[in-house]
Amino acid sequence: MATARIARVAPARADARARRARGARASSTAPSTPARATRRRAEAPRRDERLEVITFDLDDTLWPTTPVVNAANEALIEWCSARLGGRFPRTARVHATMKRIREQRECEAAARGTTAEPMSYAAIRIAGATRAAIECGIPESDAVATVARGYHLAWIPMRNAMARELVYPGAAEALRAIRERHPGVAVGSITNGFGSAAGAGLGEFFDFEISAEALIDEHMVHGEMARKPNAYPFQLAMGIAIADHGYSGDADSWTHVGDDVLNDCYCAKQFDFKTVHVCDPTTKPYESGGGAPYAEKSLRGGVEANSDAVVDGVISHVRELPELLDRWYV
Ligand SMILES: [Mg+2]
Repeated sequence: MATARIARVAPARADARARRARGARASSTAPSTPARATRRRAEAPRRDERLEVITFDLDDTLWPTTPVVNAANEALIEWCSARLGGRFPRTARVHATMKRIREQRECEAAARGTTAEPMSYAAIRIAGATRAAIECGIPESDAVATVARGYHLAWIPMRNAMARELVYPGAAEALRAIRERHPGVAVGSITNGFGSAAGAGLGEFFDFEISAEALIDEHMVHGEMARKPNAYPFQLAMGIAIADHGYSGDADSWTHVGDDVLNDCYCAKQFDFKTVHVCDPTTKPYESGGGAPYAEKSLRGGVEANSDAVVDGVISHVRELPELLDRWYV
């Protein structure tokens, strides 16, 4: 069993890796943005390849996101209410304040002729809960201190605990089977959110993790660039795969797995990777409170209408993945 290594990649170093990765690839290398629409129909994968790298989306792919995030949001409110009293605002008010802050920052930046400084959903949640609390009459110092501590001591632990509890049945077994059937495969996660496979108790099956939230807050990458469907997270993954795991650059030997046709399949297909769409009819996709990347809003309709062009395989559950990979890879 490979040792889990969680990579929070420094952008400059990773960018250099990504450039090397692009240089190592054939002429079909993807552009740095997802503007190129993939119109060709996905080719039927051949079973003469070795699986070198497999990457996973996390939210709604390995666990259901809505109950996980809702529980974390409520944990933060309970934490703060226990310390500051019943006047602490409820989640709906926090969300409304988050939206107001986001719009205000964008307006102020536009007035300056620039874009707002990178700020993750996590950071905006802290700002939103703090401002909402102050507007409810809670002293500023109490609001700042309690929300900041509550985010780390209540929200994050609850998100991880719920993901651990709600990991889809059979997901861990599937990940273990992939490790066993494809020795040497590098396994990574690429998420637009805050979750991590390690936090959900699946760390032993992963070699690296890329979190948009970490890229934004820790490495000052703008949200539009840090989040799928921008190609940047996949470029980082390629850099890690080449530098740390000897990835050959053969696109057919890389499979990406996710529940979102745009953010997962379309985005991975910009690199000609094989794609697996996890399409569980019982899972209601998580809808964030806003702030999705511009590309997501502008591209989604067209990409989903032509999903055949970017989806190579469809499964309803990750537990079906080992069997699918057996058909694709030696
Ligand atoms: Mg997802």
